[in-house]
Amino acid sequence: MSPTLPYRGRFAPSPTGPLHFGSLVAGVGSYLDARTQGGEWLVRMEDVDTPRNVPGAADAILKTLEAFGFAWDGPVIYQSRRGDAYAEALARLQQAGLAYGCACSRKEIADSATRPAIDGGLAYPGTCRMGLPDGREVRAWRLRVNDEATAFDDRLQGRVVQHLGSDVGDFILRRADGLFAYQLAVVVDDDFQGISQIVRGADLLASTPRQIWLQRCLGFSTPTYAHLPVAANAAGEKLSKQTLARALATDQAAAELLRALKFLGQAVPGELASATVAEVWAWALANWDFSATPHGPLIIVPQA
Ligand code: GLU
Repeated sequence: MSPTLPYRGRFAPSPTGPLHFGSLVAGVGSYLDARTQGGEWLVRMEDVDTPRNVPGAADAILKTLEAFGFAWDGPVIYQSRRGDAYAEALARLQQAGLAYGCACSRKEIADSATRPAIDGGLAYPGTCRMGLPDGREVRAWRLRVNDEATAFDDRLQGRVVQHLGSDVGDFILRRADGLFAYQLAVVVDDDFQGISQIVRGADLLASTPRQIWLQRCLGFSTPTYAHLPVAANAAGEKLSKQTLARALATDQAAAELLRALKFLGQAVPGELASATVAEVWAWALANWDFSATPHGPLIIVPQA
């Protein structure tokens, strides 16, 4: 967290469906925060969880970003092509004794865990931490955590503190199906891409202490974080493909951008209602006010 680092931000959508309003908010917030500070802004396709990828979604997301007037720096990187980098990071953690093989099945964890994890599921009870039970084989790889406070100061959400040992437990780096976990991929990629500032949705707030822990284990520096409020439906559910948030209409780009700016607390003038995409961006870049962004993790938006 060095103030001398150049600002380099990023937007990291998962191609599990088309871009929706919730991801647009994260894109607009990270873009304006970067550009108004003279920063770079990179796009990364988070397609590491290959079974969840929807064919064509990555291209559709990039086309939508283009139609919405976003301009990114450098080539788009794809996590599905970065397996070697993740394997190398995992090997370093294994050699340092920080990662260990785990034989537990989902059912065994369900039967033996005593604590819920902070973001759903169960905290891993540490069954394989001292070595595999006799005759068992490694299914997944986990990272050792401790129970001291892992904390950071979020620019919007304030101080966030977790005790990883009890809040999450030793967490997965490589899954039983052989895929690398999101937590490992995101940390390796943010370091690889030299990201100094992360602006993303508050749905990832609970993951951040794990990512900071992993950065420390790998000797990476920790970026500065701002977690934007997440758009939710009237039931308080985050807008996502699961709750069937509609895809963004590219012929409504200017109107959708204005909606995202309003969601982010910006004082959008009424005369912009009929503006073009370029005019909306010109106004937003000249008037972006990060301090007006609401601080809570959730905002209910009426669904069209
Ligand atoms: N790929 C994640 C998502 O689409 C974002 C991860 C991140 O910004 O760190 O929710």
